Order: sequence, then structure tokens, then C-alpha cells
Amino acid sequence: MKICTHHWAMCRKAIDDRGLTPLVGTGQAAMERAVEEIEGRPTEDATYDPLMALNYMLMGRAIEVMGLSAMVTDMERYADNDGEVCPLCEPRRIFDLHLGKTCGDPQCTLSAIPTGTKPYDEDFIDGASDSILQHCRERWLVAGVQ
Ligand SMILES: [Zn+2]
Ligand SMILES: [Zn+2]
Repeated sequence: MKICTHHWAMCRKAIDDRGLTPLVGTGQAAMERAVEEIEGRPTEDATYDPLMALNYMLMGRAIEVMGLSAMVTDMERYADNDGEVCPLCEPRRIFDLHLGKTCGDPQCTLSAIPTGTKPYDEDFIDGASDSILQHCRERWLVAGVQ
């Protein structure tokens, strides 16, 4: 799974709009943090990276929406994303397909409920970024950014 170029730019902007860009680490710091999380070690506030946090939240949500099909690699189907599923493009496609209607498959029980006026991807990036901002404020990682 990999966030596509288009959605990565949207994620960066959402973090930047909330004044959190100074907390976005270098590639090296982000890798160390990822290793800490994978190994289940307690993570340090100093290595908290809002962009990586957003990345993990989006991937987690995509797995909730799509199940393990979020993890497949398909060079043909996802040719424009190095063969990987974008955790925003695919859920949005599924969401749009089921918005107030069935997709036509009689076995399918999915239905999408509009959450607001924004499409799925924008809505989810905004919601997740807001909770990241909240986290940063609670941990005093940002000085009272409004
Ligand atoms: Zn995408
Ligand atoms: Zn369906």
C-alpha cells in the first residue's frame, strides 16, 4: 500500500495548513520512528511525525474498508502507483460506487453513507489531520496553534 502522488500532496497540505510542518521529520527520523512502532517500543514525543501518523491512520482505515485486498500488488491495475493500492483512491472509488446505491452485485451488502459535503478522501484527510493536531496540542508539541 502506498499513498499516490496526488493524495500525498493533499496530505502534506493538510499537515501544513495546521501548522505542523515543522514536526515533519527527515526520512531517517521517520524510519527510526517506524521501527520503534513496529517493535512495540515506547515512542518518544521527539520523534512524533504528523505526516507519518497520518500515513498510518490512512492505511489502517483502508484495511478497515477494504480488508486484506488493500495489501495486494497488481502491476496492471495499479500501474500509476507502482502496482500498489493507494489507501485513498481505492476506498474513495468503493465509497462512490456504493453511495446511496448498490454496486449491482446481489451478494454485496456495502452501502456508503455520506459523512458530509466533501468526498471520502478529502473528508478523511481532514478528519485525521484534525485529530493529529489535537494530539500535538495535548502533548505540547505545538505551542497553541489555532
Ligand atoms: Zn490516491
Ligand atoms: Zn458492492
